[in-house]
Amino acid sequence: MIDTLRLTAEDVAGLLERREVSGEELAGAYRAAIDERDDELHAFLHVEGESGDGVPIAHKDVITTKGIPTTAGSRILEGYVPLFDSTVAARTKAAGLPIVGKTNMDEFAMGSSTENSAYGPSRNPWDPTRVPGGSSGGSAVAVAGGLAPWALGSDTGGSTKLPGAFCGLVGLRPTYGTVSRYGIVAFASSLDQVGPITKTVRDCARLYEIIAGKDPCDSTTVDLPQPVEIPAAEDLKGVRIGVPHELNEAQGIEPGVSGAVQKAIRLAEELGAEIGEATLPRSVEYGLPCYYLIAPAEASSNLARYDGVRYGYRAEEDGHALTELYMRTRWEGFGAEPKRRIMLGTYALSAGYYEAYYGQAQKVRTVIKQEFEEAFADFDLLVSPTAPTVAFELGDKADDPIAMYLTDVLTIPPNMAGLPGLSLPCGLSEGLPVGLQLLGPQFSENLLFRAAHALERAIGFDFVPERLRA
Ligand code: GLN
Repeated sequence: MIDTLRLTAEDVAGLLERREVSGEELAGAYRAAIDERDDELHAFLHVEGESGDGVPIAHKDVITTKGIPTTAGSRILEGYVPLFDSTVAARTKAAGLPIVGKTNMDEFAMGSSTENSAYGPSRNPWDPTRVPGGSSGGSAVAVAGGLAPWALGSDTGGSTKLPGAFCGLVGLRPTYGTVSRYGIVAFASSLDQVGPITKTVRDCARLYEIIAGKDPCDSTTVDLPQPVEIPAAEDLKGVRIGVPHELNEAQGIEPGVSGAVQKAIRLAEELGAEIGEATLPRSVEYGLPCYYLIAPAEASSNLARYDGVRYGYRAEEDGHALTELYMRTRWEGFGAEPKRRIMLGTYALSAGYYEAYYGQAQKVRTVIKQEFEEAFADFDLLVSPTAPTVAFELGDKADDPIAMYLTDVLTIPPNMAGLPGLSLPCGLSEGLPVGLQLLGPQFSENLLFRAAHALERAIGFDFVPERLRA
């Protein structure tokens, strides 16, 4: 029996190396798990079921895969089968990782619950009445539900960290520019970054190692200043960890979430970390409003390419003019959230308002970057909850965009500054996983892995959802 719920990617690699299972047996085990559980969970939009010599992987459907449908969770890309691989898909392929399938997501990665998918929501394996977080919800569900050993997601405002937190997994948002965006369906180009969603910190480091590094097809990428180190440390000696009170005492943080995070901070201290109070005076208050000008502005430009001519969906033609074809295709093909963002973004970029909105938001972004730089003058890492709450019920926030946007209030500020962040499960509240957000300066992934690994061992969180344990 291959226990897909329990096996980490490293475990799977070991089984393959020792020839205790074949690639076909593994693919069969994940296929059986999908048959058993994915009708309920809906992690996948497309099951590919490749087998091979490497650890199978699930890709968020925003990741372009040659010959495999790629929809970004949108009707407007229904039927689109790319002719090329994104760089991350090419790199996992070159590393020998077979593709399990493409995972469900909020349409164009716009959302925090996966309820904005045009193909219906995914459900949280810990409690199927609850959301898995978003926008990379399907990737987290696939891993937590034992349907894939590891997965890639993408993170613009928190979309790998949040589903990681809600599903009891590790989610990494890498330093902007360390992972190629070539072939990633674009949402907000100055923020989008692909990252791993895994059961352990070591799996996360291994997957990051495969995908990171300079890519000639994405001029915003750089080579990593140091090679990725697979963490082994069990202590936090000499690591200075700051606790920014604005991030830890923000309005709306549930007591159970705060309690689990405080417990993890005490553990960090016992492991030898130096804990101190930090401050980010304006970043938490202004991060979210700043994001909701910049991200929609970039989205309105990126989404202009869906015209019914070049990709995917095209409205029925009945002799109308070209402009009519564009309008009808976009009206029928986009869901409510992309339409909302296109309108917001177009408004913010329009002549007469550009300086007041987009220009101002860019200035605020610089202030946020400076605040984090000041905090990192005194601390190696910062810590906070990943999200104010645990996974909420499906439908709870679906009709209230502002409430949905607030889910990302703690993940967005570091993203605006281009900084890496890792969400680590740190306990349960109301029987549901709580995420701890660890933040570091640019290119501090190795330190994030080291600290998260030591904490992971000390916390001893069991990533198999309670209701699915044998
Ligand atoms: N929830 C945020 C949004 O809707 C972030 C999503 C993301 O990181 N892709 O924009």
